[in-house]
Amino acid sequence: MNLPKTPTVESVGRAFRDAMTLLRDWTRRRRITLAQIGVSIPGLGRFSISVNPIIPCDIGRISGMFGEMFADVPLAFTNSVVAHATFHRCRTENYPFSDTHLFVFVSQGVAGAWMDDPTEADNLQPVELGHMVFGADGPRCRCGHHGCVEAYTSLPALAELLGIAEAELLQLGSEWVSTIPISSRVRQELRRRLFRLGLAIGNTLNVKPCSGVAISGWPSLLADEDRNAVVEGIDACLLGGRKLAQVSLAFVPPSTGNDPQAALAFAAFCLANRGGMPAASTEAA
Ligand SMILES: [Zn+2]
Repeated sequence: MNLPKTPTVESVGRAFRDAMTLLRDWTRRRRITLAQIGVSIPGLGRFSISVNPIIPCDIGRISGMFGEMFADVPLAFTNSVVAHATFHRCRTENYPFSDTHLFVFVSQGVAGAWMDDPTEADNLQPVELGHMVFGADGPRCRCGHHGCVEAYTSLPALAELLGIAEAELLQLGSEWVSTIPISSRVRQELRRRLFRLGLAIGNTLNVKPCSGVAISGWPSLLADEDRNAVVEGIDACLLGGRKLAQVSLAFVPPSTGNDPQAALAFAAFCLANRGGMPAASTEAA
């Protein structure tokens, strides 16, 4: 379901209601009883339980709608970066970290999540590192501020830098790296922005030290010479530098915010945490 160009609490609420109605009718027709609903929303944090600063929606109201339509189904909301982190950690073969690390997602938005013990849902905390301001006179960010690292490094910002429409960039998917010619001027600016992203990550690690960082998103598609700018940015601000701080970095493939995989992985994670399917159920069999 598409969201309107300028989303409001009302129009986002309507889109949720339409999607829920579709889901309810679909499950009824197939006589399926849902075991868990997982909802992933960009910008959902501990201060935005009622009104969300990134996607204008009233979580309380949406939660009420789920209650009306799916009365007995367990429901969980999360920040979309937590859902993506769950997806990558649980579904990626050879995911680089199994212990505590910082997951950084560079897509439509830019954010991070602390990944601690995977059996504790509370240990997955979103980190709004994308809204670290680097220049108060910089480009406007969707959070309402100017010059956030997200305003320089998100997919919409990348599309603008490459001189193509965001829709075209999304359609190209991972192919954009080999399809779109990059002039040396654009490449230089790209590296400057990646350096800023590195600074934001390094600053985050200064606040809460951590020995592993997984970066997922469009920077993962770039050649080493380009994405090294991220590493240099981390080195430039991480106390003691990366070597002394013993931080290992890994680039993992990007995933987009539009597919349902992240929310599905999050719902499966919630279900597993509650003990999974009853052993006697045919589904479990
Ligand atoms: Zn921002």
